[in-house]
This record gives sequence, C-alpha cells and structure tokens, in this order.
Amino acid sequence: MVNTLLNRIRQDLSARAGSIVVLTGAGISAESGIPTFRGPEGYWTVGSREYRPEEMATFRMYRSHPSAVWQWYLFRRTICQKAQPNAAHHALVDLEKKLENRFLLITQNVDGLHIRAGNSLKRIYQIHGNINYMRCGAACTDKIYMIPDSIKEREKNEPLCERDHDALRCPVCGNSARPHVLWFDEYYDEQRYRVNSSIKAAANADVLLSVGTSGATNLPIQIVSIAAQRGALLIDVNPNSNPFSEIAESSGGSFLKGKAGQILPELVEIIGNSQS
Ligand code: NAD
Ligand code: ZN
Repeated sequence: MVNTLLNRIRQDLSARAGSIVVLTGAGISAESGIPTFRGPEGYWTVGSREYRPEEMATFRMYRSHPSAVWQWYLFRRTICQKAQPNAAHHALVDLEKKLENRFLLITQNVDGLHIRAGNSLKRIYQIHGNINYMRCGAACTDKIYMIPDSIKEREKNEPLCERDHDALRCPVCGNSARPHVLWFDEYYDEQRYRVNSSIKAAANADVLLSVGTSGATNLPIQIVSIAAQRGALLIDVNPNSNPFSEIAESSGGSFLKGKAGQILPELVEIIGNSQS
C-alpha cells in the first residue's frame, strides 16, 4: 500500500518546483523515546491529584504551582536531552541540504531534536518554544535564556532545591523564570512563536508534509487548511488517521500510514530525486 502511494507521490511531485514546508509534531520524536501527550505516560501527579498535560502545561498551573510545573518540565527536559534524533529527523536534515531555501521546517516539538540532528536555525520555526530555554515569568523582557548548566538531569519525582530556584530566575529582574514554551491557555505571537511567518509560509507552500501530529492545536490546523486552500500538495505521515490525513486524502494528496522513522527516509529520497 505504502509503495503504491510512494509511486503516486513521485508523479505528483514532478510538477512541484516551489517551497516544501514540513510540519512536525510529537509523533516524529516517539521513536526517539519521547512520549507523546496522548499516551498513559502523559499523566503527572501533584499532591494527591493526577493532572493531564493539558492541565499541567498552562500559565494557570504555573501561577498556582510553580515548583510542580518546573519539576515536570525539568524531568521532561531530561528525557529530551537523553534522547537521540532518529531516522526521521536525519531524513529532514538531508531534505534541507537538498532544497536549501525552498525548505522550511515548522515544528510543534519543544525537544530540540531537529536542531541537534542538524537542521539550521534559520529554516526552523519552533512554534511551541523549546524546553531547553526559559524566560522571565513576569515578562519584564522578551529575551530567552538557556536553562543554566547547573540544572542537572532529574528523576521523575525529584523536588527542586533552593539552589535550583536561584538558578531559575530572570537575570534582568530576579523574578522566577518560566519554561520558554507556549501553554494551552496562551496565545501564539510572531516574536516568540513565529505565527505570522508560519501562516505566510503555509500560504506560499507548494508541498506541505505533515508528520506525527494529531492536528489538535490551533496554528497547525490553520497551516494545513491554508496550504490546502492554496492548492499545495498535502502528504501526511502518521500510524493513525487524523484530521490532517483526512484533509490530505480529500484534497488529492496522500496519507502514508506508518511510523515516521520508517517512512521518511524513503519519502525524502523520492522528494529529493524529483527536484533534481
Ligand atoms: P500529540 O501527542 O497530540 O500526537 C502525536 C501524534 O503522533 C499522533 O497523531 C500519533 O498518531 C502520532 N505518532 C505516534 N507515533 C508516531 C510515529 N512513530 N511516527 C509518526 N507519528 C506518530 O502531539 P502533537 O499533535 O504534536 O501535540 C501535542 C503538543 O504537545 C505539541 O504541540 C507539543 O508542543 C507538545 N509535545 C511535544 C513533545 C516533544 O517535543 N517531543 C512531546 C509531547 C508533547
Ligand atoms: Zn524579569
């Protein structure tokens, strides 16, 4: 099935010489061992209550339980730091090398794996932030800062000590810092999350490749819808059908059902060959 579709994609691509925008979600990092939000690992206990990621990843939770939110993020940052980029991340580095300025990567992931694999910072929009960075919790400045090296790997339930709290402060005003990620009760903006640039890129895309995303968040839905309306060829890679695979199939594109690490290396080779 996948082979038949790959042959069709080979033909579809022959008439496409414009920009190729790749949109990635948590699924592309699943084979690197980073859990997506939808599995059972997503839950987190604070006190005697279990919280879902949609409750933990909020400004509201940060305001009421800042230490618990930092504990969750520092544990997840440890998982991301220990993980290695997989075949799908590497394939996208090859695609960028081949396409150069015709390539743009928009990622919902905060794990930094695309950058570690070798995609260039100038061609990647991290629309939900990056777990390795922090910024002022009181928003006194727009600057973002790398989380200090003194913050080491964390066990799951390791509480923060006084020294951690001191390290996790805004260098400008001394208030507590917060993780540099977009929370579920916050809005996208251009400066931090490249919302306008992403929409513009989607409108100009000749091909839009979505990988490992459930299509549950606002900006990704806009990106795929706008690209589809403007006539881009949509290709979705995911082991499960989802809103993006449905839009791809109904707009004349393709749904490659399977794992990113297995499908992307071959798909990227096909895209690369069709563009030479
Ligand atoms: P999601 O958890 O909602 O969905 C993950 C998607 O990946 C699902 O559609 C699933 O079918 C698919 N998937 C699972 N394994 C796959 C594989 N091997 N190959 C390809 N696809 C696979 O993730 P989301 O839609 O990205 O949204 C949740 C938000 O949570 C994200 O926007 C992100 O900010 C955050 N998040 C980030 C990470 C990360 O940085 N790695 C991890 C979890 C959550
Ligand atoms: Zn500050």
